Amino acid sequence: MLPSLKRTHRILSPFRSPSLSTMTFGTVVRRRVPRIVSVVSVTYSTSSSSTRMVIDKPQSYKFGVKPILFGVKPIPFGVKICSGSTEVKEMARKVWQDVYVVGGPDISDMLDCCVYLIDVADGDELVLIDAGAGRSFRTLVRNIEHLGFSVSALSHVVATHAHIDHIGALARFRELGAKIVAHELDAAAIESGEGIGAEFYGVPYEPCPVDVKMSGDALELKFRKHTLKIIHIPGHTPGSVAVLADIAGRRVLFGQDIHGPYMEALGSDTRLARRSLEKLLALNADILCEGHFGIYQPASAVRRYIEGYLRRL
Ligand SMILES: [Zn+2]
Ligand SMILES: [Zn+2]
Repeated sequence: MLPSLKRTHRILSPFRSPSLSTMTFGTVVRRRVPRIVSVVSVTYSTSSSSTRMVIDKPQSYKFGVKPILFGVKPIPFGVKICSGSTEVKEMARKVWQDVYVVGGPDISDMLDCCVYLIDVADGDELVLIDAGAGRSFRTLVRNIEHLGFSVSALSHVVATHAHIDHIGALARFRELGAKIVAHELDAAAIESGEGIGAEFYGVPYEPCPVDVKMSGDALELKFRKHTLKIIHIPGHTPGSVAVLADIAGRRVLFGQDIHGPYMEALGSDTRLARRSLEKLLALNADILCEGHFGIYQPASAVRRYIEGYLRRL
């Protein structure tokens, strides 16, 4: 497969998978051509288990090139995940009243962002925040049903931004009857599949129409029991949005990819990001449901978390 292999060695990388929380290392083969490496497997470890993925189409990179996986820190040689599976260790769980986490690296698929479900009308209407990278669609459906809900009650999916790990299964959920909500500045990417980073993840993407294109700074989605405020937070991408809901005395903020990465190649703008993070701080949320790092509470922890990323910008 790789005839010009010279030697195989392991690298220990500083790559921390947000929700898996420990380190990752890859087996790297160095070719005869100097300064070119191929990553052939990646191991993800958590405190309780580890998952090894053998990459069926090894990717070669020059030393020093640092492609990134969305939502995680740059890795030294770049890893394109082409295949593999992950152990699902956890099912969906309740975050707060009417708020659940139904997907994420530990729950549905290692490529997924955290996927949140809000019961906005006593089970009659449900809203999903993001849809994962795509291949976990069935698992997400199973997890929603495991909570006792019917997926036919899914009325909206809010796509927080146009990156593959958040929008992969949008088209499938739309087929079930859910309306897709996104900011108009990211809608073209969601509808075309251009610039969403699917190539980094090695997963196919089915372009998906956006039914509710938000423009401007905010949009309210009113439901029988809860009102969701969609807030434009450009920075990570031009059309990134956060979702805010006051539920049972707690202010819950769904702030996907607050941590970035903030890179021009991803459509990021650090100046706008700074303003957006300040806007999020001013909301004084009690619970933060983040896109890859999970859930933060109480309010002081939310503040610390956002301030930490604001300082890095
Ligand atoms: Zn992400
Ligand atoms: Zn992203």
